[in-house]
Amino acid sequence: MNKNIKICSLGGYGEIGKNMTVIEYKNSIIIIDCGISFPDNEHPGIDYIIPDIGYLENKKKKIKGIFITHGHEDHIGALPYIIEKLNYPKIFCKNLAKELIEEKLIDKGIKYNKFKPVTKRNNKVKAGSIKVEFINVNHSIMDSSALYIRAGNKSIFFTGDFKIDYTPIKEDFIDLNRISEIGQQNIDLMIVDSTNVTHEGLSYSEKQVGIEMNEIISNIENRVIIATFSTNLSRLVQIFNIAKKNDRKVVVLGRSLKRIIKIAYKLGYIDLKNYEIINKNEVDNYKDDQLLYLITGSQGEKLSALKRASRDNNRDLELKSNDTILISAKVIPGNEVAINRMVNDLHRKVDEVYYENVSEIHVSGHASKEDIKIITKLLDPKYIVPNHGEYKHIKKMKKLMIHLGYEEEQIKLVENGDFLLLEDNNLKLEKDVIKSGEILIENREMGFIDINKLFERKIMGESGLIFIILYLTDKRNTIPREPEFIIKGIQFDDRFINEMKEKVKSVVNVLENEELYEDELFKKRIRRRLKRYIRKRKYKDPFVIIKIME
Ligand SMILES: [Zn+2]
Ligand SMILES: [Zn+2]
Repeated sequence: MNKNIKICSLGGYGEIGKNMTVIEYKNSIIIIDCGISFPDNEHPGIDYIIPDIGYLENKKKKIKGIFITHGHEDHIGALPYIIEKLNYPKIFCKNLAKELIEEKLIDKGIKYNKFKPVTKRNNKVKAGSIKVEFINVNHSIMDSSALYIRAGNKSIFFTGDFKIDYTPIKEDFIDLNRISEIGQQNIDLMIVDSTNVTHEGLSYSEKQVGIEMNEIISNIENRVIIATFSTNLSRLVQIFNIAKKNDRKVVVLGRSLKRIIKIAYKLGYIDLKNYEIINKNEVDNYKDDQLLYLITGSQGEKLSALKRASRDNNRDLELKSNDTILISAKVIPGNEVAINRMVNDLHRKVDEVYYENVSEIHVSGHASKEDIKIITKLLDPKYIVPNHGEYKHIKKMKKLMIHLGYEEEQIKLVENGDFLLLEDNNLKLEKDVIKSGEILIENREMGFIDINKLFERKIMGESGLIFIILYLTDKRNTIPREPEFIIKGIQFDDRFINEMKEKVKSVVNVLENEELYEDELFKKRIRRRLKRYIRKRKYKDPFVIIKIME
């Protein structure tokens, strides 16, 4: 039997988002993470993008489990869409991820009870012929792990999203002891988080955020409104602490925040009895300087509490000019435009808005250069694959590793769809051999949205749409009535519209017999000539639809 390990990159390689790695040894497969990414302007109307799991189609029986490093969307978000397709494999994960996944599955009406909880003590799993150990790391969500994977005589260290936080809040320091022990055992391959490889120095501690925020809030004499990532429990704990220190009651607005606080309480991560949380109906009993609103919407999400408040559309929170707003989060790629718009709207309403680029009220959960160096030196792997990064990041990681003394051949730049074979004395990279790609989720439903449809949508959005009703006699070579033009998303004056009508009529007059009677051909001819005309005259390229009425 083959003693080599196969590693397939289905998502998260050469990109930040929709993480999914498949590791295959003998007749066992494990999957690491199963996430979504968020669409950008190239994907209008799309909610999420998930990895294509076509590669696993004929291998379902070999799947021994899905291993979740932590509960962020780019690591768990795709589970509701694929768990059924994979025949409901076991999910191995820590507490917080379990709660978050469970909610997602329930939301989708999926019954699932094959969770295998991983705890501090119970952190080693045997999955077929593959052994996996969960190692505690720091990140921007509690219960984050790296994975130490062994199969036969080979081993892989998968860092997951991580950083080194010397002063974490309410969680343990990254298990550097265990990592250095593992480093003594000859690691073959390290797959490493590259998100912040371009950041110099050590990464900042979560504790620093608390200090900065407290500094700001202790000087405010009116209401404070904070939007943050709901999953960052350490941050929530700090915000509760700051509220307490500054004699403010906390008002929580937004469904996802309320849910996560409930979960955090259930798991013992936030001791709610320590804090004064009041209901939104009680705020009138307090003065402005006694209130701190904790709300959703750090990404400018359409229906979030902050977004609605910015549009005067939130009954629970009407903004006042003396309010102070803190957006304690970074911009997730794809959300730039929405956030920017919201931040501008907020500036119209209130005097002071703190957000990324103007304040230190957020720190990243990803390793900076010095953190990466420490881990690499402790593990001293034979081969390195940078992941969780766009191409520019993984390329930078390669440079950093060469700086640390690694040879070019020891570092493989892997993108989605590539295939790695870990052999006794080699790591072979085959480019673009596995079925991988993007599945787009629209209206929260799984669907293979035709890429052409998306393209049409994009053209319509960017260049407008012309809908033409063309009246023809049954002989088709005469036009009994003026064609009607319905024009959307693009502006032409009457003169040009008349010119277009004339153009259409003139095209009809010169069409050949065959073109006249074959509907699709007929439309194609007219569309092509009209579009050429518009391009030449107006430098525009709208989407043209023609309906023929006889
Ligand atoms: Zn993460
Ligand atoms: Zn991530």
